[in-house]
Amino acid sequence: MRIGFAGLGVMGGPMARHLIEAGHQVVGYNRTLAKAVAWAEATGAAVAETPQGAGEAAELFILCVGNDEDVRQVVRAALETVPTGCVFVDHTTTSARLARDMGEWAGARGCAFVDAPVSGGQAGAENGQLSVMAGGDAAALDRARPVLEAYSKAIQHMGPVGSGQLTKMVNQICIAGVVQGLAEAVHFAQQAGLDTEAVYGAISKGAAQSWQMDNRWATMARGEFNFGFAVDWMRKDLGLVLDEARANHSHLALTALVDQFYSEVQAMGGARWDTSSLAARLQDRSGR
Ligand code: NAP
Repeated sequence: MRIGFAGLGVMGGPMARHLIEAGHQVVGYNRTLAKAVAWAEATGAAVAETPQGAGEAAELFILCVGNDEDVRQVVRAALETVPTGCVFVDHTTTSARLARDMGEWAGARGCAFVDAPVSGGQAGAENGQLSVMAGGDAAALDRARPVLEAYSKAIQHMGPVGSGQLTKMVNQICIAGVVQGLAEAVHFAQQAGLDTEAVYGAISKGAAQSWQMDNRWATMARGEFNFGFAVDWMRKDLGLVLDEARANHSHLALTALVDQFYSEVQAMGGARWDTSSLAARLQDRSGR
């Protein structure tokens, strides 16, 4: 397929590489051109200097940029040149309202828009093992599905446009609560003078087990916080969650509190640390 791909960062760079390895014709575009050029040198793919350039002739236009405004800019520009019938697939984590607006814009040009945020992190993008939660027209998703399978282990259709983003919000609510609980558990174990490795061995096969425990317990205990998904991104996501919760009248006391804890991590200089750095905030308090 002929594919335009905007946003060649931590996630988008490896995703677009998988598409090239699967034999697709990809034109990459990135705000900072130097990053796109380096990506093109590594992959042998073509690069465009504008979204319009990446959109020309694209049957599929995939995005993985930063936030709502970035998506708006790229989609507006790409819609100037993409052929009628092009399917936009947006892997950026955004508001559900943005997705609905993009659905209307794309529809007015005879195109389709699928909001398709992902989970699985940097490792998932590099290993082609992402989980995709998608909202939009089922037929449009079916056209994109064989392409997205190049970097996904699961693609779930959630309903109309916007419902992929709502599902991603549920994912982030789960992560916020679990990571804070784990950070407190590591902190408590250390304050109690326990051997944290032995604690993991004792409790990680029972009801306390979680992906976060298996993958972040030891690194939290060692104070290592460099695993890809930055605190700045998490605060963006929790902001989207809390806005949506206000609109749909849900009660997210814990999520709101953890959002504030992340603001403290940012103030400690941890904006680019990963989400498990909630542990750093507690270590800071106990002088570790
Ligand atoms: P990233 O490394 O900062 O990559 C974003 C890329 O998009 C950058 O290369 C950036 O260009 C480019 N970009 C941003 N705005 C643009 C615009 N207006 N026009 C063109 N290119 C633009 O971020 P990431 O970690 O890949 O995350 C991307 C999205 O995926 C975010 O919404 C994030 O919340 C979500 N996500 C991330 C992860 C993760 O583990 N990292 C997991 C799930 C979801 P520059 O080079 O100019 O900065």
